[in-house]
Amino acid sequence: MSITKEVKKKSMFDTVIGQFNKTADLIELNPNIRKILSVANNEIIIHFPVKKDNGEVEIFTGYRVQHNNALGPYKGGLRYHPTVDVEDAKALAMWMTWKTSLAGLPYGGAKGGIQIDPRQYSIGELERITRRFTYALGENIGPEHDIPAPDVNTNAQTMAWIADTYMSTKSSSERSKNQHVVTGKPVGSGGLEGRNRSTGYGVYLTIKLFFEGKGESLKDKTFIVQGYGNVGYWVSHFLTNDGAKLIAVQDAHATIFNETGIDSEALFEHSKNRIDSVEGFEGAVEMNPKDFFGIECDIIIPAALGNQITAANAGNVKARLIAEGANGPIDVEGEKIILEKGITIIPDILCNSGGVIGSYFEWLQNRNGELWFLEEVMDKLEKKLTQVYKSVASMVAEKQIDWRTAAYIIAITRIETAYKQRGIFP
Ligand code: NAD
Repeated sequence: MSITKEVKKKSMFDTVIGQFNKTADLIELNPNIRKILSVANNEIIIHFPVKKDNGEVEIFTGYRVQHNNALGPYKGGLRYHPTVDVEDAKALAMWMTWKTSLAGLPYGGAKGGIQIDPRQYSIGELERITRRFTYALGENIGPEHDIPAPDVNTNAQTMAWIADTYMSTKSSSERSKNQHVVTGKPVGSGGLEGRNRSTGYGVYLTIKLFFEGKGESLKDKTFIVQGYGNVGYWVSHFLTNDGAKLIAVQDAHATIFNETGIDSEALFEHSKNRIDSVEGFEGAVEMNPKDFFGIECDIIIPAALGNQITAANAGNVKARLIAEGANGPIDVEGEKIILEKGITIIPDILCNSGGVIGSYFEWLQNRNGELWFLEEVMDKLEKKLTQVYKSVASMVAEKQIDWRTAAYIIAITRIETAYKQRGIFP
């Protein structure tokens, strides 16, 4: 073996499969069901051409991984990022299966995206890339089969392009029956009032419920956020409204700090370009990105990418609580260190599930030809998420285990029950 051969970097799939195996051992999961859930049902890789503004044709690579649909149609986001590949999509799809099951939704899990840095393309090019990818996916997505949603670097506009392209492939009498092929659309195009804030609101609500369980309020609690996109902004908005103090933010371009508090709305105004950046914000100073997770604070909210807290930096963490806005931000080794330090982790499949619950409401709204009001949406979201949170909290108390394991037990047991009731075809 060459001495220059690189040690394989831990992938997000290592993290999610490690978490799954731990729970499967603990609950003595039926070995046949374990085999089924260890792999994704479908892994779709598509290479497709798009004409750029300068007339050149570029070939792009897009992915859609459908992990499991035992409980209903596949559901999960589409991400535009240079790190997107089939391994990451497999991991993220598996997390979606656990998340929808934990929330008791009639969905399975999927994830996908395109391996690009969207900053390198014009709006017109992004539209053509999105439409061509949708066309190439064809019947691999569908309102009763696989329903994408926004994720990193995709948004309501991206979903509108997908919906329009998919619906354009149908006859005019079928068009309107296909609007729910994606969720997270703009409100004027079948989107749900409040869907854009639902993930961040859910992260906030789980943090609030956690401290309420300890007889504490959010007032004067300090928090730091990695990622100031959809999730990072909205959770900061709701936490600061309740008197908590945002003291540091890290995104793909900069890390900023102000111990007296960062104005979350002013930071949002500063960063809301097409691809957000907190760089150059006047109400804070730049700091070394390496020191970010070691900042003295009550709450850390990773709301960017996976595998951010690992054995390399977990020892520096001083917070009391980590609320996983992102999917898979802590790897298995990092988690071990965090838990040994007595720090609680509210796991992604619970913490950021407000997003998929909001998506479910949008899907129902479109499917039933209804229009829901913001108040109604937020009220339903709060009730649903509180119920899921309480079921996990009861499992934690009953079995004296960590929150992730408790959430996984509920999620995997629900799928196991469905398989046991139905059997395996043929
Ligand atoms: P977004 O594109 O709106 O924002 C992503 C943010 O992460 C940006 O601020 C970006 O600068 C930052 N970022 C990217 N790379 C980074 C890096 N290397 N270091 C630090 N920051 C980096 O995305 P989003 O929709 O807010 O999603 C964020 C996370 O939340 C993802 O893990 C996503 O899977 C998860 N999530 C999103 C939703 C949703 O509804 N949008 C739902 C559930 C989970």
